[in-house]
Amino acid sequence: MKNLKNALLLKQLYQLKQLGYKYTSVTAYQETEPDLTLPDNLNFLEKQARDCHLCTLSKSRQKVVFGEGNFNANVMFVGDTPSSSDDSIGKIFTGRSGEMLTKMIENVLQLHRKDVYLTNVLKCRSLDQQSISPTHAHTCHPYLLKEISLVQPKVIIALGDMAYYYLTGDNTEFDNIRGTVQKQDGYTIIPTYHPSYLLRNPSAKKIVLEDLLKIKGLL
Ligand code: SF4
Repeated sequence: MKNLKNALLLKQLYQLKQLGYKYTSVTAYQETEPDLTLPDNLNFLEKQARDCHLCTLSKSRQKVVFGEGNFNANVMFVGDTPSSSDDSIGKIFTGRSGEMLTKMIENVLQLHRKDVYLTNVLKCRSLDQQSISPTHAHTCHPYLLKEISLVQPKVIIALGDMAYYYLTGDNTEFDNIRGTVQKQDGYTIIPTYHPSYLLRNPSAKKIVLEDLLKIKGLL
């Protein structure tokens, strides 16, 4: 996921340029990255995230929403940020979009929800559900990378444009990349629409059905 690191750094440098900075030291800037020593165990990783105060979302969150599911899953779903319902109860993919995702897993992939692993780019709710701050994503990224390296899924399904961008650093127009099979760092990543998008745009369900059937074929 080196591409993501470079993309985030580039984005942050552009932001500094817009603020009027002419010169900055990339080396010095990189030193601000979180130097997290993370455990090689998902239960301990969750515990560490639940006590995390590395970014400002720790002040606004109600509960940390960590990944859940099968620690040896072949399929990992990565969303963007916890919903308000997730935030209030501390569980991932609850509420209507969680129900939609469960139906997608059970009815199309013909798996149980507990057979797959579900996580988000951010473990604490972003107050702006329509976007994720690069700083927050950058700070929280080591948790996601560690989850991926511990679960080692065969297929990672990126739910929505933000999940896809923060997994890959690729900012191609989402509709042009959706449903394609991407390879990165030895992982297979397939982007499709987030269930919350399907709730707002039910006509896109047919497209997601095609994406999921493709994923089922890969498994
Ligand atoms: S969003 Fe991630 S980095 Fe920020 S406080 Fe929560 S767990 Fe820590």
